[in-house]
Amino acid sequence: MIEVENTHNWGSGALYSAAALQEVARAARRHGLPLHLDGARIWNASAATGARIADLAAGADSVMVCYSKGLGAPVGSAVAGTKAFIQEARGARKMFGGAMRQAGILAAGALHGIRNHLERLREDHARAKRLARALSETEGLSLDPGEIETNILIAEVVRHPERLHDFVRAVASQGVLVAPFGGPGRFRAVTHLDVDDAGIARAIDAVRDAARSVLLR
Ligand SMILES: *Cc1c(COP(=O)(O)O)cnc(C)c1O
Repeated sequence: MIEVENTHNWGSGALYSAAALQEVARAARRHGLPLHLDGARIWNASAATGARIADLAAGADSVMVCYSKGLGAPVGSAVAGTKAFIQEARGARKMFGGAMRQAGILAAGALHGIRNHLERLREDHARAKRLARALSETEGLSLDPGEIETNILIAEVVRHPERLHDFVRAVASQGVLVAPFGGPGRFRAVTHLDVDDAGIARAIDAVRDAARSVLLR
């Protein structure tokens, strides 16, 4: 099978356009391979491109979506596919201990996310870009803000990359969480509905302070 993750976590939240996905779908069909779309962040790809979810999912044999990332539900994911695929998935879910009779309360959170939090994903993207610009201007760090398309950014510690973990701890001591991620010396930051403009300003200050005290000394 072929699996595509849209948006792509390790790619700093990079997205596939509907046209690019169609090309992958054609290649999959040509080789007789099913295409699975890991759309945990498909909402972000849609918000960033303006493409409809249906168009981003067209050509995939199965699609999963996640309600607990950008949409902000406490928990919950869903998978879509053919009737036969879903029947098989239900069996697999039961075998792995994932069956749940009281799933309505989870569905309610997911519905709330779909109804109220789709539009605002663009705010997360704008804030990620703002954070990326500030980080790109921070001495000791490197990233290209032009590459940030959605709500994930991966930056690199270029001055004393071996101090990455100390740097991450110094940022965390100011209440801002970034994670070592994406390769040696790299860390990831994600914007979401609990981070407002003031939060971004705080994150920028925390990262700059940590860079000064940990990387530039
Ligand atoms: C979050 C995520 C999932 C699924 O998450 P669950 O918590 O298991 O619902 C799948 N793929 C990607 C890329 C994700 O980020």
